[in-house]
Amino acid sequence: MLTIGLTGGIGSGKSTVSALFEGFNVPVIDADIIAHQLVSKGQPTLKILAQTFGTEIINVDNALNRARLKQIIFSNAQKKKQLENILHPLIYQQIERQQQRLKAAYCIISIPLLIETAKTEFIDRILVVDCALEIQIARIKQRDKLNDVDIDAIIASQASREERLAVADDVIDNSTRTLQLRPQVEKLHTLYLLLSSTQDTLICE
Ligand code: ADP
Repeated sequence: MLTIGLTGGIGSGKSTVSALFEGFNVPVIDADIIAHQLVSKGQPTLKILAQTFGTEIINVDNALNRARLKQIIFSNAQKKKQLENILHPLIYQQIERQQQRLKAAYCIISIPLLIETAKTEFIDRILVVDCALEIQIARIKQRDKLNDVDIDAIIASQASREERLAVADDVIDNSTRTLQLRPQVEKLHTLYLLLSSTQDTLICE
């Protein structure tokens, strides 16, 4: 199946673009949702995290204390890496499982840190949602109610706009109004359908 890796910085518009693809009945696998599910109450991954980072990261109701975990990894690169080493393989494993169950011409896999984790061997094309930094910041502020320092720290921890654009096969410009996203998604949808049929032909030959 043709696999499109959708990526972009925080607040660039990945979820908005994903919803538009879903509007064309394209299945979307979301790495963010998988990551949340993996550490939800009662999941074995939560136990592993508690063993690794201490039971202080678990609330009295047995749910993950995200703020505490964030604090622990924020200023400690080694612990951040440790967390990634636990979560990333599990996330990719789950992506693969979900994809195997799909029946579609192509699918979108939304992975915020696709470029940072450099795991692109199962992706046929990289689709980047792009917008100017000031617009990205304004949208995050409005959506997440974060302060400037926190927003800067998150953006600094992600790949730069230039790094993303350098590896993009396709780009959606989300600098203007949401209304202008749909025609771009529609154009790519047509392209991906065409590419998936070519891929099928090549496999059959
Ligand atoms: P991501 O999934 O990349 O973090 P979202 O799709 O959630 O980004 O978009 C971030 C915020 O900006 C959301 O509140 C969304 O509704 C808003 N947004 C996205 N695209 C536009 C746009 N073109 N115009 C105005 N607001 C937008």
